[in-house]
Amino acid sequence: MIVNNSLDELKKRENSLKIVKEIIEVKGRDFLIDLTGLSGGFIASSEELNLLETYVGPAIFEYELQIEGIKHLGGEKIFPVNRTSSGIFATILALVSKDSYVVHFLSQLPGHPSIVRSCNLVNGNYLEFDSFNEFHIPDNCSLVIITGSTMDHNVMDEDIFKKIIQMAHNKNIPVFVDDASGARLRTVIFNQKKALDLGADIVVTSTDKLMPGPRGGLLAGKKDLIDKIKVKANQFGLEAQPPLILAMVNGLKAFKEENLLNAFIKKEKFLSILQKNFSMFKLTPTGVMIKPEDLSYEVKNKDTELSNEDLAFLFAMILLKEEGIITIPAVSMPGASATIRFDLSANDASNIELEILNNKIISSFNKLLEISKNKEEAKKIIFD
Ligand SMILES: *Cc1c(COP(=O)(O)O)cnc(C)c1O
Repeated sequence: MIVNNSLDELKKRENSLKIVKEIIEVKGRDFLIDLTGLSGGFIASSEELNLLETYVGPAIFEYELQIEGIKHLGGEKIFPVNRTSSGIFATILALVSKDSYVVHFLSQLPGHPSIVRSCNLVNGNYLEFDSFNEFHIPDNCSLVIITGSTMDHNVMDEDIFKKIIQMAHNKNIPVFVDDASGARLRTVIFNQKKALDLGADIVVTSTDKLMPGPRGGLLAGKKDLIDKIKVKANQFGLEAQPPLILAMVNGLKAFKEENLLNAFIKKEKFLSILQKNFSMFKLTPTGVMIKPEDLSYEVKNKDTELSNEDLAFLFAMILLKEEGIITIPAVSMPGASATIRFDLSANDASNIELEILNNKIISSFNKLLEISKNKEEAKKIIFD
């Protein structure tokens, strides 16, 4: 095993960012192909930037964010936070009492690591389920969480979504939805309703997933609950700062459903090209992915000392280093999924031919076959 813990993941991320910097300096930004689907966009005019003072900025942009945020998520009140993880943490800090239960339902395990970590910090008891038959709400439960779309973009069934909300409300327990990518994936691609319109009490989404905003989190929901969460978030500095809020407003205004719908159509063609050489690719709503276990099967290198996840990290690093292709396992925060997704709704995806992308993947895979035989070499590629 090469990548064993959060510290290893941090080192891997720092190495990736160094590679990205080198590529930009030597070959230029055009050599990079960011297919993460996380844009980290920062749209702002110079007039807007001039208004970024500690108290003036929030007065203007928080007001606009209430309007744009409610259009996007519904609900009574919006609260912007530093990251989706910060929104999850603030919600659990505000609503979960010591020794009470938090139950989480999602279409496919595991849930985002910030959920279990936050529950541990408040000494709550955490349970997660991906089978509706096994799902149950124990006594002394303070919060029910639903993930609308998982880290790997597996999307929740809308009927089960409604049933879980009903079960929670029958026991007077608030429902919090982690709709990081789901707020757009579920609604645009699967024609589902907004989480709050399905009856949830609070929702959080990520402002850089599948939309041209900065990395940040947007909470929405019932005013009394949002206020409670806001107080906690302010106590610990989890709220979004004015520059982030400005870029969130403009990201929301610039969001186009069209990009997601185009990717939804293009992915089938990409899959059929890839399948001429590989059996490891699966469809996602807006692209394709390789799960670590499928990559391992494709490599078929029985004497490799690498775990499935190591192989996925190694492949992501080779894709970046050799071909400039950025995927989440190369640059992610500790605990994120090791699944390699190629998101065709990403800006850079519209600038490259699918055949060329396919050739880059083939060439990186051949390199992976070589390097995966040698653990020391693999370690060097991942950590430098
Ligand atoms: C991305 C993601 C998060 C966390 O987003 P951050 O920006 O890393 O805080 C939480 N939940 C799900 C389902 C996600 O996909």
